[in-house]
Amino acid sequence: MRKKVIAGNWKMNMLPNETIEYIEKFSKLVENSDNEVILCVPYIDLFYCLLNCQGTNIKVGAQNVHFEEKGAYTGEVSAKMLKSIGVEYVIIGHSERRQYFGETDESVNKKVKAALENGLKPIICVGESLEQREQGLTENIIRNQTKLALEGISKEQMSNIIIAYEPIWAIGTGKTATSEDANNSIKAIRDEVSKVYDKEVAENTIIQYGGSVKSSNAKELFETSDIDGGLVGGASLVPEEFAKIVNYNK
Ligand code: PEP
Repeated sequence: MRKKVIAGNWKMNMLPNETIEYIEKFSKLVENSDNEVILCVPYIDLFYCLLNCQGTNIKVGAQNVHFEEKGAYTGEVSAKMLKSIGVEYVIIGHSERRQYFGETDESVNKKVKAALENGLKPIICVGESLEQREQGLTENIIRNQTKLALEGISKEQMSNIIIAYEPIWAIGTGKTATSEDANNSIKAIRDEVSKVYDKEVAENTIIQYGGSVKSSNAKELFETSDIDGGLVGGASLVPEEFAKIVNYNK
């Protein structure tokens, strides 16, 4: 049985003092959850988040990483640096990074490799745009993004990878994929993982849904056969609301 993993993506929100206040509230609300809970926060908040999550069941992730280990890459942060302060997860290939910061399937793959080599667990985002969906290309796009992100990744390394299916048209728009649609897309991604590796690896891979998840739709989405939790943007900024999503099965 795969566990449910629910990750918050704060994007470029929250100052260090807000991070501390958030965790104080949130940690009490989710302490009895059976689900894995992760907060992916801006670089500036990571250290405060790690300190304040000590002794709680909350794991901490970054939202991006550079693929080189060190050197002349002004403004970038390496996987080794993230690992050195205790970060456990990192979001890679979020559609906002693909859209605004030139992230490609190739750079996603390099980042996944760098993260794994340094002991970080990647949350790899894949998803189609509205235009691609309307052209009937959804399955093609998400299968291809999945295959390219995993190029050169061993079967053993797959146990440290999470995939998040995030249809771009559903991110931050209030529009959610129906649970049936999201589940079908995730089944296609799982099938692609099975083609690259085998059925056992595919059955054990955590694949989340992301795109306007809220406490009112979390249960329906997360109780489908293949959706293993969520990557949550906007709704993760409010501790009470995000806690309700994490505790969707209570
Ligand atoms: C996200 O940022 O990954 C996301 C899914 O955002 P939202 O929940 O706000 O749609």
